[in-house]
Amino acid sequence: MNRAKLACTATLLGMVTTGVYAQSSLAPHVHGEALLETVLEGQVLTITLQSPAMNLVGFEHAPETEQEKASIKALESAMQAPEYWIEIPTSADCSLSSVEIGQHHELSLEAHDEHEHEDEHEHEHEHEHEHEHEEGASAQADEHMDLRFDYSFLCASPENLDNVRIALFDRYPALTSLTAQVITQTQSVQTLNANTPYMRFK
Ligand SMILES: [Zn+2]
Repeated sequence: MNRAKLACTATLLGMVTTGVYAQSSLAPHVHGEALLETVLEGQVLTITLQSPAMNLVGFEHAPETEQEKASIKALESAMQAPEYWIEIPTSADCSLSSVEIGQHHELSLEAHDEHEHEDEHEHEHEHEHEHEHEEGASAQADEHMDLRFDYSFLCASPENLDNVRIALFDRYPALTSLTAQVITQTQSVQTLNANTPYMRFK
């Protein structure tokens, strides 16, 4: 295996997982699609799922109604247990060591500058109220949100990781395609869907 290539990919992945907007090159925000990043290093298995909120809860604005708040809460609660959506072979003997649930990444596709200067212009709001109100409608239509779920496992027998079934397609029909980046001794990019929901480690 080409070590330099591996290191390069790892760096790239690091950027992807730490930057709010940096992921756009590898994980474009496309409704119906989601990204899975899987890294097995020795006995440590890390899995990150990033998906447009639309696929999982059916909306992408901050939850407003009681029903929307309940949807987010139910999703976050269910995703606490990785077995809810990912079926890791029991023979690999993996135990969950950490989980970070539902980090929200709001993607404002055109209005970055507006957001950055929001505080500075706060005092002008009254004068601009009418104008902003008009713009508000179109800004709302451009509102997008990714949800991110990070899991880390310690696997006693990682050599038994072969095929991992992703159960998301059963639960969330709005999700039609999942791009899985799998980095082990080798690396691959796999496209999963309801017909082929298996992520391969070998
Ligand atoms: Zn969206």
